[in-house]
Amino acid sequence: MILITHALTGAVIGKNLNNPALIILLSLIFHFLMDTFRHGEYVEVFSKNTSIKNSGWKVGLDLSAGALIIFFVARLSYLDEKTMANIWLGAFFSVLPDFITALYWKFRWRFLQKYYTFHSWLHKYPRLSPEREWSLRNSFNDIWMSIVAIILLLLH
Ligand SMILES: [Zn+2]
Repeated sequence: MILITHALTGAVIGKNLNNPALIILLSLIFHFLMDTFRHGEYVEVFSKNTSIKNSGWKVGLDLSAGALIIFFVARLSYLDEKTMANIWLGAFFSVLPDFITALYWKFRWRFLQKYYTFHSWLHKYPRLSPEREWSLRNSFNDIWMSIVAIILLLLH
């Protein structure tokens, strides 16, 4: 899933719950659950070893677009400061699992290896398979989940 979809889902969790620990836990669980759905990925890899090439700007764009959508949607709903803090908390912990994976790609820290294997295992289709290509067909789940999340953020 792209970071926009993850961040928006975390924002919905944060908006609807008051307990920070629960927001963090659910945001993480939802991230892993959503990763089991079919989705395309824009991070290009050289090989199955997942060395990434110039994907930094795409990640930056994905992340800022997510933050901007949350910011504007929250503005439209006139949410109070406490709810906003919970929304950002949920959004942060919803994208964290992919950030940890990126750390593993970059630094190959051994203590992250088990986590990395788990995160990859959740993905039903292997890397470099057609089902993980960056295409409109493969973005279907990202699109509907993001739309539902935006609607839920706007609803009172
Ligand atoms: Zn993930």
